[in-house]
Amino acid sequence: MTINSEIWDSPSDYLQARSPDHPVHFFAPSALNASAKRFLDGFNGLATYAVKANPDPAVISNLLAAGLTAFDVASPNEIRLLREMAPNAALHYNNPVRSRSELRFARSAGVKSYSVDGSNELLKIIEIICPEGVEISVRIKLPVSGAAYDFGAKFGATPEKAIELLQHVAIAGFIPSATFHPGTQCEDPQAWRAYIVEAAAIASAAGVALDRLNVGGGFPANTANTAPDLNNFFALINKTVTAEFGATPPALICEPGRAMVASAFSHATRVKSVNDNGDVFLNDGIYGGLSEFPVLNVERRHSVLSPMGKTRSCVSAPTLVFGPTCDSLDVLPRRIMLPRDIADDDYIVFANMGAYVKGMTTNFNGYGQLETVTVLTL
Ligand SMILES: *Cc1c(COP(=O)(O)O)cnc(C)c1O
Repeated sequence: MTINSEIWDSPSDYLQARSPDHPVHFFAPSALNASAKRFLDGFNGLATYAVKANPDPAVISNLLAAGLTAFDVASPNEIRLLREMAPNAALHYNNPVRSRSELRFARSAGVKSYSVDGSNELLKIIEIICPEGVEISVRIKLPVSGAAYDFGAKFGATPEKAIELLQHVAIAGFIPSATFHPGTQCEDPQAWRAYIVEAAAIASAAGVALDRLNVGGGFPANTANTAPDLNNFFALINKTVTAEFGATPPALICEPGRAMVASAFSHATRVKSVNDNGDVFLNDGIYGGLSEFPVLNVERRHSVLSPMGKTRSCVSAPTLVFGPTCDSLDVLPRRIMLPRDIADDDYIVFANMGAYVKGMTTNFNGYGQLETVTVLTL
């Protein structure tokens, strides 16, 4: 990874001038700022950022500049990164499974908020962390659909278990809260409603007043076919919290990853070759920047540029697209529409690619060089 300190006008300017043969991640700080404002202005509570979606220091520093004061972290390295860049930021350690040594590290870094979904993990926190001023959020799971894939398959306590955990948290002297995550790219706001209704029922059955309710990430980013209005999600969250919790609602937190950062980056890949069948071989694939394509059924908007930076506008055809490695799995799961005159050395620029590319790019087969270039507009 190279960080380029120059600022270019647009991806096509850079591609034309430099003809990079490696994939390029184009970052527009202005787009990130606009995205942060949607959450800071629209969400009725504390807007935080899930660092795993894109841990690039340029992302973190721009979010700090936009006014974010709290971050969801999942590992000692993420905690270290945030402590270097923002010694006073609130860190929410919401990976519910941690080793004892990870917990001791978090304690030494001043982390004051943890999530749990099981008794073993709660007992570890009680053993290692003093309760004064420390929040423990019980992570709830529900059989809720609507997300591109379901996070409940890995984490979260059933309602019965959550009641028990919440009581245990309160008795141990920690600040009791609740959290959930509907699953990434969740396009149905009703998922949030179902979770909030359940969180209120759990708190009431436990006889514990929630200090805060963290409604997770999972907010959808734009795709080739959809441009979800997050204000609809925020409005339904507000309405449901008021209806379910009445006069003393918990303070709200959200922790978007994808929806915060996706629109701030485009990802440029280059055509290495077009074979005799018209199949396209790219310099990037499922082991690099396109790693989400096989696991997430989300179509990205894309355009094809000639080496001179001109948009190819010939009629398109569904085209098989291979990645650069010698592994036969390294192919995009669905054909994508590409202009019939696409040729060697062209670029395919995918939009809304800021989430889950950094950190997911491997060096398999000698590929994986990822340059980040800052642009004024994408
Ligand atoms: C990954 C994750 C997020 C961010 O999810 P997105 O779908 O990217 O918004 C938020 N909270 C937790 C606990 C996570 O694990």
